[in-house]
Amino acid sequence: MKLIGKGKSKDIYRADNGDIVFEFTDRVTAFDGVKKAEYAHKGEVCCELATYWFKILEKESIHTHFKKKISTNRIRVANLNILPVEVIWRNYVAGSLWRRFERGEIKLPEGTDAREGAPIPNGMLEFTTKFETVDRPVNTEEIINSKWMTEDELINIGEMTRKINDIMFKRLLRKDIILADFKVEFGKTPKGKILLADEVGTPDGCRFWDKQAYVRGEFLSLDKDVFRKNKGDLSAAYLEIFDRITKD
Ligand code: UDP
Repeated sequence: MKLIGKGKSKDIYRADNGDIVFEFTDRVTAFDGVKKAEYAHKGEVCCELATYWFKILEKESIHTHFKKKISTNRIRVANLNILPVEVIWRNYVAGSLWRRFERGEIKLPEGTDAREGAPIPNGMLEFTTKFETVDRPVNTEEIINSKWMTEDELINIGEMTRKINDIMFKRLLRKDIILADFKVEFGKTPKGKILLADEVGTPDGCRFWDKQAYVRGEFLSLDKDVFRKNKGDLSAAYLEIFDRITKD
């Protein structure tokens, strides 16, 4: 195996047969890499949760690049041409959406209350750049004009993301967890088939809120916001969300 890249939290290797191996490390970064730390168990929790969701999604006919979990913190995936946009699905107003709204840069979708934590009645799909130093929101026009994706591919990715949300949202709610928003990435096989790529359903790429606390009017984050907002011990939050998602 040859090391071919280091992401914010994963090390990336190429296997002898051409597959890619992701090693989930304990690294955590926020604010475009400005804030950095390491937390025990983080890599294993994200590896196991990504595996958990990839398997569920595959059963529900979402095609993904996942092949196999090969150790406590490594998975083997197909080598794809990664599309240069990150896809964000939002069920609740949080994070950068709330910040952009407060700055007057964006309107909230129709029927959405103007407060942090408000539900977005039909959900909301957004795109950001992936290969620029700082992630920047992009609209569908720019994506098509820049030839990052065709219109059909965009529609396909939007439908896949909505379906991924439906599957994860329902399952998490049964465990008293609100999926406020999440980020996914997609890639293309040499034959042009679009597959879900990177990782999915981990606390690095999703906002998970405890439902009982939300009903009381509090936000109890079980995700990377614990680190972003200095809300306590990240290892403890990640181990808790891991237990709640994987134990029936
Ligand atoms: N997200 C991510 N990687 C990124 C940017 C965002 O995984 O580079 C996830 C983030 O954890 C959250 C969702 O995408 O679950 C929406 O993030 P947002 O746009 O609100 O930005 P943030 O608050 O993370 O700056």
